[in-house]
Amino acid sequence: MPKLIVGNWKMNGLQAESLERVEKLAAGVQGDASGSFHMVVCPPATLIAPVAAKLKDSVIRWGGQDCHAEASGAYTGDIAAPMLKDMGCDFVILGHSERRQHHGETSAEVAAKAKAAHASGLTAIICVGELDAQRSAGEQESVVGRQLAESIPDTASTENTVIAYEPVWAIGTGKTASADDIKQMHAFIRGKVGTLQILYGGSVKAANASEILHTENVDGVLVGGASLKADEFLGIAVAS
Ligand code: PEP
Repeated sequence: MPKLIVGNWKMNGLQAESLERVEKLAAGVQGDASGSFHMVVCPPATLIAPVAAKLKDSVIRWGGQDCHAEASGAYTGDIAAPMLKDMGCDFVILGHSERRQHHGETSAEVAAKAKAAHASGLTAIICVGELDAQRSAGEQESVVGRQLAESIPDTASTENTVIAYEPVWAIGTGKTASADDIKQMHAFIRGKVGTLQILYGGSVKAANASEILHTENVDGVLVGGASLKADEFLGIAVAS
């Protein structure tokens, strides 16, 4: 199965530089006939429409970085799943550790958001991962196991849900989990989620992508910082 290569741009980018980036990505992907990956970019909400316009004839798909659990209503500043779908999104990232940390998102809220995403025909990329202190205490599997049990709604299927394992201590830090740690955790997650695709995230870059993408039970990667540079992100994709 092709690897899923997802770029999370977070709160970065104005139109000019971002559209230049997607033009480079579209051209780069066009030139790769291997069929070894599917590429997805998740821009900030303000850039979804212009990015969608640039990518409409490309094989690259796009998604949002969060959605509300309700389909509409008095929720100032929030974005509903049908709005993302209306912009041509196929994916939405949910329960990213930055949202769990800075917005106090609970796993129950993530599950409700994922249900809303499914109802709109979006694929939910549900993020899980332990903190540094939890790994040091040997609690990584119990933490991730609980997040999986509580964040995946009963509407989840192989068609509409992807899991992203992102150890929090590896996000944006330049530290990656070792191949053994990734292998062990992905095997644990596989035991819990069956055939759902499982992505790894945490300081993935072109230089380490091949080893990570060829680790057992790694079905793709969720990439933050390195997805902001077209050459680097393409380098990750072709490593698949
Ligand atoms: C992320 O934000 O999902 C992420 C993995 O970030 P980075 O690649 O920068 O560590």
